[in-house]
Amino acid sequence: MQPLLIYNTLSRQKELFKPLHEGRVGMYVCGPTVYGDAHLGHARPAITFDLLFRYLQHIGYKVRYVRNITDVGHLEHDADEGEDKIAKKARLEQLEPMEVAQYYTNRFHEAIGALNCLPPSIEPHATGHIIEQQQLVQQILDNGYAYESNGSVYFNVEKYNKDYKYGILSGRDLENIKDASRELAGVGEKKNQADFALWKAAQPEHIMRWPSPWSDGFPGWHCECTAMGRKYLGEHFDIHGGGMDLIFPHHECEIAQAVASQGSQMVHYWMHNNMITIDGKKMGKSYNNFITLPQFFDGSHPLLTQAYTPMTIRFFILQAHYRSTVDFGNEALQAAEKGFSRLMDGYKAVLRLQEGQKVKGQPQVEMKYVDELREKLYDAMNDDLNSPIVISNLFDACRVINSVIDKKASITAEVAKALADVFHTFAFDILGLTPETGNSNKAREEAFGHVVDMILEQRQQAKNEKNWALSDKIRDELAAFGFEVKDTKDGFSWTLNK
Ligand SMILES: [Zn+2]
Repeated sequence: MQPLLIYNTLSRQKELFKPLHEGRVGMYVCGPTVYGDAHLGHARPAITFDLLFRYLQHIGYKVRYVRNITDVGHLEHDADEGEDKIAKKARLEQLEPMEVAQYYTNRFHEAIGALNCLPPSIEPHATGHIIEQQQLVQQILDNGYAYESNGSVYFNVEKYNKDYKYGILSGRDLENIKDASRELAGVGEKKNQADFALWKAAQPEHIMRWPSPWSDGFPGWHCECTAMGRKYLGEHFDIHGGGMDLIFPHHECEIAQAVASQGSQMVHYWMHNNMITIDGKKMGKSYNNFITLPQFFDGSHPLLTQAYTPMTIRFFILQAHYRSTVDFGNEALQAAEKGFSRLMDGYKAVLRLQEGQKVKGQPQVEMKYVDELREKLYDAMNDDLNSPIVISNLFDACRVINSVIDKKASITAEVAKALADVFHTFAFDILGLTPETGNSNKAREEAFGHVVDMILEQRQQAKNEKNWALSDKIRDELAAFGFEVKDTKDGFSWTLNK
């Protein structure tokens, strides 16, 4: 079996995975900014790193998986300076900022949980780690790589670039970054346009603020991941992940902050999932194709021709390698829906064969087939988490299972059990799929409702025929299940008291 290789964005190649501490893996993944519903852009990293988390545990590592909640100070670019997004939304809706953050954190957990992503080991909040972030800022100031300006603190990129190299992760050159920023309006408080905020002084109207040696203000966005990663995983840890859109500036700035504060890089392997497009277009509010996960699940967005279950979304994302782009469209999702149910049918079929099946004159499915299948599946996972190859091998297994069901092959109980076991391990434990009926709760509830209506129509019929014994029996039995039936002028009505 080939050993586990993962693609390191920093070296731009697949590397042998070797944890810093034997048997243990520390992994940090950038979590959501909680001022809106989770969308596909959140689903992909959540599923990608859930796959990694599951697989590392499956092959025997003890994993500490840290994923943060950004509930303050997300300064994406200069236009946003002075007021962070959560505070903006709070003012708009007249809510406490923490109320907004909590609401969307709960919604995020619900949506990501529906995608069957395991919860991380630690989920630290940026607002709960202001002191750690201030300590980081102070260290960088003490080491001479930051400066104060009007109560704010900025990272001195030029100074850092002289001693170390800025841009090693993204492959960008400081000169190019400066050139690109020259068109922007005045440098203002910064010495250089490429400098980024470590601490921002709050404007009087700013409601999320904390006291600091420099001003009442809030930390710059890049600080939280460096401070919390170090707090929970140590000065050196194995894996840092996120979407490719975070490589620059976020992760580039994280590297600079780590080196400027402790003199060395913190992260061994940088992993990034590629982005998602919708019908070939980048996802964004301006394209009107910004589909949230709840909208996918109930089909309420105008671009969707139907609702898609969380498992369809998960299966669809896993059908592509995490470093490839994925294009969402109704046709592709419908194909994924069919593919997923074909896979689940294959598993149900192999469970029916657990006693074995002998068909005269037909070839036997050998144990060797199962052993080779298992090896191919591990090889695919070990090759930088190649989930599409895992899925195509599971489809191969479905074909073999179906040939037995169609009585074109024989299988012993032992081989059938081994095959079901491999299937279960890879489809459920590692890919994290779960069998589902394909119906949303709402659809199920509607179906149950129709059944109750149908029974009550039978009762109405009994009443019309003056069969009081039967009509009372139906009413009493429904009552025992919690249904309260009322006779009305036009017939009946019912409620479920549960
Ligand atoms: Zn981050």
